[in-house]
Amino acid sequence: MEDPKSNNLKITFFGAAQEVTGSCNLVESPSGKRILVDCGMHQGSKLNEEKNREDWPFNPSSIEAVFVTHAHLDHVGRIPMLFRSGFKGKIYSTAPTKDLAQLVLLDSSGVLEKEAGRHGGETLYDNKDIEVAMSHWEFLDYHQTISLGDLTFELLNAGHIMGSSMIKISYNNKKVLFTGDMGNYPNPFLRKIEDVTDVDTIVMEALYGDKNFAEFGDTSLKLERIVEGIEKNKGVLMIPAFSIERTQKILFQLNDLMEHGKVGQIPVFLDSPLAIKATQVYEKYSHLYFNEEARNFILKGDDLLKFAALKMTIDTQQSKQINKVPAPKIIIAGSGMSNGGRILHHEKLYLSDPKSVLLIVSYQAPRSLGRMLADGAKMVNIMGEEISVNASVVKLEGYSSHPDMDKLLKFVEGDLSILKKVFVVHSEPETALFFVQRLRDYLGVDAYAPEPGETREI
Ligand SMILES: [Zn+2]
Repeated sequence: MEDPKSNNLKITFFGAAQEVTGSCNLVESPSGKRILVDCGMHQGSKLNEEKNREDWPFNPSSIEAVFVTHAHLDHVGRIPMLFRSGFKGKIYSTAPTKDLAQLVLLDSSGVLEKEAGRHGGETLYDNKDIEVAMSHWEFLDYHQTISLGDLTFELLNAGHIMGSSMIKISYNNKKVLFTGDMGNYPNPFLRKIEDVTDVDTIVMEALYGDKNFAEFGDTSLKLERIVEGIEKNKGVLMIPAFSIERTQKILFQLNDLMEHGKVGQIPVFLDSPLAIKATQVYEKYSHLYFNEEARNFILKGDDLLKFAALKMTIDTQQSKQINKVPAPKIIIAGSGMSNGGRILHHEKLYLSDPKSVLLIVSYQAPRSLGRMLADGAKMVNIMGEEISVNASVVKLEGYSSHPDMDKLLKFVEGDLSILKKVFVVHSEPETALFFVQRLRDYLGVDAYAPEPGETREI
């Protein structure tokens, strides 16, 4: 039952509660302002994707604005559907987030249209809906504040991907921070996630709330060894990579390895239109959003994400030509979990070859093809064909764009002065429970992992 006299903010966790996709939080003020923080797609498995077709658990026309933490599909993917369903408000994010979101949404609508064509039924949204969304989308810089009624909003650097933000909402003398996805550090080009010390409630991601992993720096030497291996054996290195951030980190390392002669000039194919365009957005905003070290390199004329052996294959025809290029070669393609995209064609072709290497650099959702391969499957079905897996499958965790457990704890530890409550989201259920317990035991913080659809007052 709603308490009509409540003077509290209400948060309802509609997505990424006890799961890692579909981020969508409703914030309601006592005066009736209703805003969303993120409105993302459920992803990872067919079962999860079905959730995108469910009715909204709120009336979209009653929402005044959506504040977007960053451009990953699981945070922006349902925004065009909101407009289809009667939402008439504004979208707010940083400028790079808007640019990247447009790319991500256009890519997604292409996939959705193909699926609708194959299985019948209506597509969730099309390019017209995206156009409408873009025309209602406004920029905010980090630390610029904006007020909507009794709520004030401020974006802080999250260091997760280009333009990513944490969103601080102030109401009366309360402050709540939505971390969105948080960044790992050190990052070769992005600035480190900001410290936050003045909030009483944090809604925080904890994708890796139960594990620690290697640093990004450690991956460079390992990648060097793998590239040397395929060079020697004349193999194919396949890297299924998320188009935003993971791809750029790999390009950064390959650039370093090849430009400094640590490995030979093996052809590298960036075989993903989305990744190619996302890399251009990284370059467009590098002078504003990159860290000092990366900006200094650029000032000296160094292209951090481009090198002679790199070929961008934007159209399908170019992509098909890749298999005619003799090994050794390196192919970076989406999707990052091998549940679609051009990587499937390469995996179908080269997974059975013992000289090939599949390098897994990202989180793999349960039941995705990538997870099966990461877990050591010896036979997989790719586009209706049984493929035996003879290639080496190597996992490198240091590329993570998310903090590990110790870094998550450190973030909260820096904000203990007035902190009253942490809501743990964007985490598989066991991980969320583990991290909640850690926060309680190690930091003495009142922590809780909300259920999907649960409302809490603060
Ligand atoms: Zn993300």
